[in-house]
Amino acid sequence: MLIYHQKTKIQDINLQNLTMKKTVKRLATAILFSSIPILGLAQNSPNIIVILADDLGYGDLGCYGHPTIMTPNLDKMASQGMRFTQFYAGAAVCTPSRAALMTGRLPVRTGVYGKGDVFRQNSATGLPLEEFTMAEMLKKKGYATSLIGKWHLGSVAEYLPTRQGFDYWFGTPYSNDMGKVFTTRIDPDFPVPSGPRANAPSLPLYQNEKVIEFEPDQRRLTKRYTQEVIQFIKNNKDKPFFTYYASNFPHTPLYASTEFEGKSARGLYGDVVTELDWSVGQILKTLKDLKLDENTLVIFTSDNGPWLFQKDHGGSAGILFEGKNSTYEGGSRVPTIAWWPGKIKANVTSTSLTSAMDLFTTVAALTKSELPKNTTLDGVDISQILFGKSNQSREILPYYINENLYAIRKGPWKAHFITHASYSPVAPATHAVPLLYNIENDPSEKYDIAKTHPDIVKELTALFEQQKSSITPPPSEIEKVLPSKQK
Ligand code: MG
Repeated sequence: MLIYHQKTKIQDINLQNLTMKKTVKRLATAILFSSIPILGLAQNSPNIIVILADDLGYGDLGCYGHPTIMTPNLDKMASQGMRFTQFYAGAAVCTPSRAALMTGRLPVRTGVYGKGDVFRQNSATGLPLEEFTMAEMLKKKGYATSLIGKWHLGSVAEYLPTRQGFDYWFGTPYSNDMGKVFTTRIDPDFPVPSGPRANAPSLPLYQNEKVIEFEPDQRRLTKRYTQEVIQFIKNNKDKPFFTYYASNFPHTPLYASTEFEGKSARGLYGDVVTELDWSVGQILKTLKDLKLDENTLVIFTSDNGPWLFQKDHGGSAGILFEGKNSTYEGGSRVPTIAWWPGKIKANVTSTSLTSAMDLFTTVAALTKSELPKNTTLDGVDISQILFGKSNQSREILPYYINENLYAIRKGPWKAHFITHASYSPVAPATHAVPLLYNIENDPSEKYDIAKTHPDIVKELTALFEQQKSSITPPPSEIEKVLPSKQK
């Protein structure tokens, strides 16, 4: 019995050894095989960071020619990457522009257009849930996803960013003037009074689906957003991540922290842009410190042109004519920089005709993501432009205000069929013979050359009619509002 018992014991020990060996082997196999997809994931899964300024004009950065706004970090980002001179937001105001960026589709296709221009505190819906967002696309590929900042694609619970592919959200559901402060501008001639508006709803600050503050101190927002972006990067440094950092600034009311306020020769607007520049510098530094820079594509852009109505609290479109809410160039052509050390060559300027809608398609290509089926996309893949392998880009760009097609561009030619000075009480003007500009030769749209170019007018008129008839807009989401008692 003893021997048997001992034997049994030995057998038990052997069995235990065998089990341990098997466990170790299984563990090793598991680690080996699980590391293959991890390695593969790293190679095919660059981190994506999209930084979106709000109402920053084409001429507002040092590297785009502003004489007194200091933007050393963005200038450096441009010198280490690609600066675009013909990159367009998807629309000339916040909400449709963001819908286009998130979906790669014209707002007139998604229903995110309409009277009132943008989603407001009483909007009943948001970006339709059946739309496939960049965040949903990347989440499907195993990315950690976050939105830090302004959403503006729906503020009722079921349309919040956390329901549209973002794992984490810290920010405001809409613009920073949709609370008790509309503008910080003091000017007796300004059409809207400055200071608090007692009857306005309070501006909420969300963390995921919870309001954590009302009327947050906006002087601290840029710092807090920066911290949030950096924390998200650190938390996810070992796996692919997507961060969409949508600053509330330099949209009015303007607020800078005490370190930046009063420092710029351009006044408060310059202070705010310089603080945003600092924020971008902190993010790029974090990527370098964590050695993630060579596996991260960072895009810096703006949602639309400058809000000229705000006078010196609005930005500048530089040599471009007009601003936000206009189909002239200043409305939607925006400063845009792409940065990816080792992948995008340093100090390159691209004049290719490009759009924020192209980012959806390009990110899909770079991450080998599947594009949505049975969906018309308006973006094209510009990765070969980013990598300096091609200048081939889109040839055509339509310009809409709400559901109305106002102008169309083909190559260097742009024809305006309807024109309107942004935020002017004067009705839009229609042009039986369109105004025609060669905007590569005449970026300020000063010289109408329709009379001397009848063939181009004919071609662009046909293209305009074709574009107009190719889309039947779904009902406007922006015009769906909550019953007034629920405001
Ligand atoms: Mg905007």
